[in-house]
Amino acid sequence: MKNTNKKIDLVVIGGGPGGYTAAFRAADLGKNVILIDKDNNLGGVCLNRGCIPSKSLLHISNLITNAKESSKFGVQFKKPSIDINKIHNWKNNVISNLSNGISKLAEARNIKIINGKAKFKSATQLFIKDQQGKDIDIFFNDCIIATGSRSQTISHLNKKHPSILNSKDALNFTSIPKSLLVIGGGYIGLELGSVFSALGSKVTVAEFLPKLLNMADNDLVLPLYNVLKRKFENIYLSTEVTSLIPQTNGSIISTFKNNEKTFKNSFDNVLICTGRVPNTNDICIEKTGITLDENCFIPVNQQQRTLIPNIYAIGDVTGSPMLAHKASFEGKVAAEVISGMNSVYKPSAVPSVIYTNPEIAWAGYTENELKNLSQEYNKAEFPWSASGRAMSINATNGKTKILTNKENTRILGVGIVGEHAGDLISEAMLAIEMRAIPEDIALTIHPHPTLSETIFNASEILTGSITDLYIPKK
Ligand code: FAD
Repeated sequence: MKNTNKKIDLVVIGGGPGGYTAAFRAADLGKNVILIDKDNNLGGVCLNRGCIPSKSLLHISNLITNAKESSKFGVQFKKPSIDINKIHNWKNNVISNLSNGISKLAEARNIKIINGKAKFKSATQLFIKDQQGKDIDIFFNDCIIATGSRSQTISHLNKKHPSILNSKDALNFTSIPKSLLVIGGGYIGLELGSVFSALGSKVTVAEFLPKLLNMADNDLVLPLYNVLKRKFENIYLSTEVTSLIPQTNGSIISTFKNNEKTFKNSFDNVLICTGRVPNTNDICIEKTGITLDENCFIPVNQQQRTLIPNIYAIGDVTGSPMLAHKASFEGKVAAEVISGMNSVYKPSAVPSVIYTNPEIAWAGYTENELKNLSQEYNKAEFPWSASGRAMSINATNGKTKILTNKENTRILGVGIVGEHAGDLISEAMLAIEMRAIPEDIALTIHPHPTLSETIFNASEILTGSITDLYIPKK
C-alpha cells in the first residue's frame, strides 16, 4: 500500500472481536475502512489465544470427565490415551477456520487489512511498520482503538522461564505437567486448571482473596468449589504466592503465605492468571491528546468516543468487563456513531459465563451487588435436583435463581450454576433487556424436559404458581 495524504474514512487498530465487528459494521454503512493488526491472523485474543482455544480444550476435558463418570451408569471406558499433537491440530483447525472466515468477510466488504504495529503520530495520523518492514503513514478522519489486553505480569513472579506460563503458553502446552500451580482463582485460571486436571495434572490453585471467582455470588460458586475440591490437589484461598524459584531440574518451588503462615511446594509448571491489562502502553496515545485513567484504560462516553472527538475506543482497552461480547457490542456502537447514527452503548446487563464444569453464568445484578447497593429484592431459587432433565443428565448440583425488584417486580438479575448455564443465561438477558417480570416467563411455555424449565420454575416460585415444588403458604 502506498503512502498517501488522502484521508481514509476510518482506521480500526486491532482485529479482535471489537475491532473486526466495528470495521465490518462501518463498511456496511458505507465507510472506507482500513483494519490494522500486528498479528497475521484476525480474531484477536478471543479467537487466537482466548475464548475459542480455551473452549475447544474444555470440550476435550469435559469428554474425558464425562467418560470417567459414566461408569456410574454402567458404561466403562478405558483410560484415555492423549495425543497432544492431535489435540492442537484440532484446536488450531477450529481457530484457522474461523480466522479465514473473518478474512473472507473483510475481503467481501473491501476492507483493507494491514499487518503491522500501529502507533499514533497525531490525532489524524498513524504510523505503521508492516511485516515486510515497510513504513506506512495513514491519515484518517476517524479512528477506533481496539488494541485489547494482555496477561498482567507480576515482576517477582513472571520470570522468563519455560516452566512459568501465561494463558497463551498454557493453551499451546507441549507436555502435560504432573503437577501444576495455577496462580489466580478467576475464570481463566479455573477454566485452564480444569483442562489440565482432566488431562491428568495434579492441579493446585492459589487465590489471594478468600473465595474463588470473586465477582460471582457465593451460592453459585459453591457447587463448583465442591467439584473442584475433589478434582484438584489443593485450593488455597486467602493465600499469596510470594516467590517462584526455578530449580535446575526445571521444576519451580513456590512459597505461599496464608495469614502469618508460610509454606513451600514444588511444581512442574506454574500458570499465572492474575488478570489482564490494556494494550495502551505502546501506541503513542499521548500524541492524540487522550489521557488514560489510573488503570491505563481509555475513558469513553456512551458513544465510545474519547476526549478527542474523532477517536473512539472499544473492547478491553475501555475497561471491565473485559469480555468478547462486550467488545463486539461496543464496536457496533462506535461504527454506527461514526456513520452518523445516534447509537449508544447502554445495555441493561452484560452476561458473565464461567465455562467450568459445572458452568456458572449470571446476568444483571448479583445478590452481592444488590446488598452493597442496599436495594431490597425478592429471590426465588429452583434447585436442579427437582428438574427431570438435570436428573437425567446427572447435573442435579445446579440451581437457578432469579432476583426481582421488591416494588415493581422487574427482574434485576439471574444466576445459574449447572451444565449449559452459559447457554441458558440468554433467556435471562432478554428478560432483563425487555424489563420483564416473572409473570412474563411463567406465562411462556418452556419445552420439557429441558434445563430452560428451571428459569420458568424459578419464575413460577415468584408468581406463586409453582407446582413442581411444594412451598407451603406463609
Ligand atoms: P483483543 O481480542 O485483545 O484484540 C486486540 C487486537 O489488537 C489483537 O489482535 C492485537 O494483535 C491487536 N493489537 C494490539 N496492539 C496493536 C497495535 N499497536 N497495532 C496493531 N494491532 C494491535 N471473553 C469472553 O467473552 N468469553 C470467554 O470465554 C473468554 N475466554 C477467555 C479465555 C482466555 C484464556 C483469555 C486470555 C481471554 C478470554 N476472554 C473471554 C476475553 C476476550 O478474549 C477479550 O475480552 C476479547 O478478546 C477482547 O476483544 P478486543 O477486541 O477488545 O481485543
